Amino acid sequence: MMKEIVCGNCGAEYDVSLVRCPYCGAAYAPAEEEEYMGRLEEVREDLHRETEKGDIRIKRGMSSALRVILLAVIVILVLAFFVLWLSGRQEKSRTDRHKEEFLQDQGITEQQEDMGR
Ligand SMILES: [Zn+2]
Repeated sequence: MMKEIVCGNCGAEYDVSLVRCPYCGAAYAPAEEEEYMGRLEEVREDLHRETEKGDIRIKRGMSSALRVILLAVIVILVLAFFVLWLSGRQEKSRTDRHKEEFLQDQGITEQQEDMGR
């Protein structure tokens, strides 16, 4: 069923689905707005679709970047533990040497100390 509207400009009646008055060309605001909103909605949907695609791309990028970061963190941790272990060993051998020197100064050999244990 056609709905007729009265042109606000010339007073002629025309179909509501027409964006403009066919007689004087004056724009019928609601129809024009509807058309505009329809176009806007399409644009919004396109944008949404593009954004979703972008999100997936970002997520993919994020996960690969995250993997690289995780790997780097693991490598750094392993290196850090290795360095700590090395320095701990060096520290221990240094204190052992000091103890040896101290015992030698005292005239006690390490062998005697071991026997005393
Ligand atoms: Zn008109």
